[in-house]
Amino acid sequence: MINIFQPTLGKEELKAVEEVFESNWIGKGPKTKEFEEKLAEKIGCSHDNVLTTTCCTEGIFQILDYLKIGEGDEVILPSISFVGVANAIVSRGAKPVFCDVELDTLNVTSYHISEKITHKTKAVIIIHYGGLPCEMETISRVCKQNKITLIEDNACSPFSKYKGVNTGTLADFGVWSFDAMKILVAGDCGLIYCKNPKDKVELEKRCYLGLETPSGASNTIDKKWWEFEISSSSRRSIVNDITSAIGLEQLKKVDSFIETRKKCHIMYSVGLDDLDWLTTPPNGFEYVDSSYYMYWIQLENEDVRNDLAKYLKANGIYTTFRYYPLHWVEYYNDDSTLVNTEKAAKTTLCLPIHQSLKEEEVQMIIKKIRNYKWQE
Ligand SMILES: *Cc1c(COP(=O)(O)O)cnc(C)c1O
Repeated sequence: MINIFQPTLGKEELKAVEEVFESNWIGKGPKTKEFEEKLAEKIGCSHDNVLTTTCCTEGIFQILDYLKIGEGDEVILPSISFVGVANAIVSRGAKPVFCDVELDTLNVTSYHISEKITHKTKAVIIIHYGGLPCEMETISRVCKQNKITLIEDNACSPFSKYKGVNTGTLADFGVWSFDAMKILVAGDCGLIYCKNPKDKVELEKRCYLGLETPSGASNTIDKKWWEFEISSSSRRSIVNDITSAIGLEQLKKVDSFIETRKKCHIMYSVGLDDLDWLTTPPNGFEYVDSSYYMYWIQLENEDVRNDLAKYLKANGIYTTFRYYPLHWVEYYNDDSTLVNTEKAAKTTLCLPIHQSLKEEEVQMIIKKIRNYKWQE
């Protein structure tokens, strides 16, 4: 079966892990600091703006805790979002307000956000679908005008750029994911970006039990290093040096990963563009760079989409749709009607795209799609 996503790990990562073993310190330490520093450099900010955490989901939980989002508050997010984001909102006792997206990019716009703003709106959490950046200038303006905190879920758009600036650094907060299915894979890991370095200082404490004082040997309180104080009753959400060592090796390769994904994207579009029974994704705009996390096609209706997915699976090609609309998830008990979201969810199919996918495999997938015949 050809996977839709897949990590690309090699002997470099293995060697880096070996070195961490040999150092006899596998917890959060020098490798994690280096990983944060190198990530900051890569995304064009200071180490004072970023910190690692266990995963992207945890990063969003931590940020909403820190912002004291709570009962009576509303947080707007596209219904086509990752489930963990809505869970973070609900866990605070706040209401997730699901908004619509554009049909072709599956991205949210300032228009879709504005429609849902009320006096209760405290935050907006956007995602750059499949790696293609949202129209951030207008989204930022709407949030500023309404004094709403803007958070970028940047899990699927690492190193995407909007007008030359890295996505994830365009809002008040941004969160990355380096989990097993993402472009840069560190096992499980996330990165939090804070526009204001003061927020980083506070979130860093919150990601380590709310401790006010460093632990162990570096604690200098009057030589009584076992004493401590906390400023919040928080969790332990830190990253270890094994994870960071893998991440550091991946970071060296990530530009080539994205380059390979771009080639794959172009190959699909060239190979499928002339078919009148499907739509290929937009290539983006002059002023944005995508991470090419997903490649998607859109079919005429749900029956064709489902049938094509089954046909491809029977041919050893795994496809899917991300992200199943959250306003359809019963648990959230939401009765919104979101026209574009619902149409996209019924007609969109995400095809395999990852840096280990071979050119012949992409050509084979294209050929299979071209040979597909819808029979009612
Ligand atoms: C994968 C993903 C997440 C979750 O990331 P984790 O690090 O696994 O918690 C969140 N948002 C989007 C858009 C994702 O694709």
